[in-house]
Amino acid sequence: MFEEYSEIREAVSRLCNQFEGEYWQEKDRDRAYPTEFVKALTDAGYLSVLIPEEFGGSGLGISAACAIMEEIQKSGGNGGACHAQMYTMGTVLRHGTEEQKQLYLPKIASGEMRLQAFGVTEPTSGTDTLSLRTTAVKDGNNGYVINGQKIWTSRVEHSDLMLLLARTTPREQVEKRTGGLSVFLLDMRDAVGNGLTIRPIRTMINHATTEVFFDNLKVPASSLVGEEGKGFRYILSGLNAERILIAAECIGDAKWFIDKAKTYANERSVFGRPIGQNQGIQFPIAESYAQTEAADLMVKKSALLYEEGENCGAEANMAKYLAAEASWKAADMCMQTHGGFAFAEEYDVERKFREARLYRIAPISSNLVLSYLAEHVLGMPRSY
Ligand SMILES: Cc1cc2nc3c(=O)[nH]c(=O)nc-3n(C[C@H](O)[C@H](O)[C@H](O)COP(=O)(O)OP(=O)(O)OC[C@H]3O[C@@H](n4cnc5c(N)ncnc54)[C@H](O)[C@@H]3O)c2cc1C
Repeated sequence: MFEEYSEIREAVSRLCNQFEGEYWQEKDRDRAYPTEFVKALTDAGYLSVLIPEEFGGSGLGISAACAIMEEIQKSGGNGGACHAQMYTMGTVLRHGTEEQKQLYLPKIASGEMRLQAFGVTEPTSGTDTLSLRTTAVKDGNNGYVINGQKIWTSRVEHSDLMLLLARTTPREQVEKRTGGLSVFLLDMRDAVGNGLTIRPIRTMINHATTEVFFDNLKVPASSLVGEEGKGFRYILSGLNAERILIAAECIGDAKWFIDKAKTYANERSVFGRPIGQNQGIQFPIAESYAQTEAADLMVKKSALLYEEGENCGAEANMAKYLAAEASWKAADMCMQTHGGFAFAEEYDVERKFREARLYRIAPISSNLVLSYLAEHVLGMPRSY
């Protein structure tokens, strides 16, 4: 029914097998960026599959990108270190000038430049993006001056460029509440120390996330993407791809947990028989399997709609919600199946358990997906 991309899956799986659990455990312990893994993926061309061939990518659809992300997670790895290199460029591709596309996309495709930082969330506005306070004020004809702060800007220390959402017209002066925000493609290579400060945030997972401060950072007018004031719309148009790809990662995680739990349940013997012989152990594994398969269908449906250029907002959000919930249920089931050993670093379950929790909160929380479905799909009254 759906294209499986078996060859790509097998090749990605082979690549991932070079980076076993110990590699990820060590990076996790040191909160270190998996540079070698990201380089291997880049060199093999997997991070540029969504870039059209004319700009040096392989011009594949999002289903192929999903297959790649799913395989990474299913192998025990973590694509969170680099997944944004795949899709952040979509905003430039759809809304950038020809000059911006020619200048950046081939370099992003080859890995010479990294565009995997996305500055939207702020400490005071959180999920309420329209209340963000970072401003970009016109500086004569020379460009813009940026002031403000972002939080949870991930991979910024491992990126050359950042896609930034900032306010260019004060909120009280715009006609529509979604107006007045603009997208900038910041070249950060000379900006650090010249108006841009990055402060890493240590978190419960290894995610290279940071706080970013803008203090009179001057950027050229050529860094504006598309038209001034339409940035919120541009950002929204890229979110479906992000939701679908992250949902595919969650499916990969869920499959890893199910496989790990099944193997352990068959091997671990207590009371003179394998624990997997008890239905109390079997059923949660079987239930996780059913939930994951169902969520996977929604991921594939949303990917297909996206590729056909259909509006897939509802499906992309449902895919993200169902897959994040399924992977979290599978994570908890895997912990329970492993009993006390789930807590031992050696089994690697606790690392994946911590990592899987993120996707019920970021890049969009499960609550906000339900709110979107209730209000925009079911037509119920708006809560905000
Ligand atoms: C590790 C990590 C990496 C991240 N990377 C990035 C990144 O690269 N770039 C970026 O821009 N952001 C990033 N984020 C931010 C992430 O997108 C936000 O954390 C997430 O969207 C939730 O926003 P918040 O943390 O401000 O929560 P808040 O908006 O403060 O919400 C707190 C809780 O209240 C709930 N809530 C809020 N409003 C409602 C409502 N109306 N109805 C029901 N429930 C509601 C939310 O669902 C949430 O559970 C990252 C976050 C983390 C933790």
